[in-house]
Amino acid sequence: MKEEIQAHANVLQLIGNTPLIKLNNITANMKGNYFAKVEAFNPGHSSKDRIALYIIEQAEEKGILKPGSTIIETTSGNTGFSIAMVSVLKGYKCILAVSSKSSKDKIDMLRTMGAKVYVCPAHVPADDPRSYYEVAKRLHEETEGSVYINQYFNQLNIDAHYKTTGPEIWNQTKGQITHLVACSGTGGTISGTARFLKEQNPNIKVIGIDAFGSVLKKYHETREFDKNEIYPYRIEGLGKNLIPAATDFDSIDEFIKVTDDESAHTARELAKTEGIFAGYTSGAAMQGLKQLEENGEFDKASTIVVIFPDHGSRYMSKIYSDEWMEQQGFMDTEVEQTASVQVV
Ligand code: PMP
Repeated sequence: MKEEIQAHANVLQLIGNTPLIKLNNITANMKGNYFAKVEAFNPGHSSKDRIALYIIEQAEEKGILKPGSTIIETTSGNTGFSIAMVSVLKGYKCILAVSSKSSKDKIDMLRTMGAKVYVCPAHVPADDPRSYYEVAKRLHEETEGSVYINQYFNQLNIDAHYKTTGPEIWNQTKGQITHLVACSGTGGTISGTARFLKEQNPNIKVIGIDAFGSVLKKYHETREFDKNEIYPYRIEGLGKNLIPAATDFDSIDEFIKVTDDESAHTARELAKTEGIFAGYTSGAAMQGLKQLEENGEFDKASTIVVIFPDHGSRYMSKIYSDEWMEQQGFMDTEVEQTASVQVV
């Protein structure tokens, strides 16, 4: 009898169950115990694989999706890539309306994965007919038998993380987690994970990472939408110019804001200190964690989990390009020039 071949049926089986990795060096002078949930280990290289698979399978179960159906979404790139990947394996067409702020790499990746991509202007209000929200809505209305994932307003986005990311972190930390630090874009990751963790232990503190130029922190504090908070920023996938229904603000204890500049440098530092090649928002989350440390948030008894949402390869033409960093005025020329003459 032949031995059974050890293989996965397809890449979808590799979604979730991402590793928790101890941070040893970047945290050297910090008080607590720090672990990163590295979502780049998903086959689509981001946490968005979880929601793409979950939402699509829920729609299949309800009979909404049928063979050959079209799936439509607005996305900064990662959700689109994950939906395109799941669509390839399940035989759906995929149409994506994306912001012009998304990197060229991300847009090319979506097309590589078979998606039809519409690039929409970034700096228009959400209700402008040119915004990616409005374009997706129109495409949904025009395409018969289509499904609009609508990640910012879909409660299944929260459920996906409640069912997967939350239990994984609880089990991996053996229930010892005291703090969760996570980015908030749609809010699905932080809300679903927080809900599950707080059901296990209501004392776990959940801190959301927001960007300067986004309304989330102010809304959390005042429950008011203040459009004066809105202005352009560089980090993709973090913060928002609207209030997403996929964010459960009550499950989050506090928001902290991070800058484009420091987040980019912290992402680069993660590669050089921990060998973790992560995306821009991972740098933002780590930067937020550093600020919390400086504010005296953690002590020796703290076990902190920070979620790193995606992989660094998506940002080669941005934060990992010295030219781009210089153009943004982010470069500390003295340090970086010294590094560039060290040839192996
Ligand atoms: N980081 C990146 C790179 C993202 O694409 C997103 C999703 N917009 C997030 C963080 C935030 O995750 P969530 O939407 O679940 O809040």
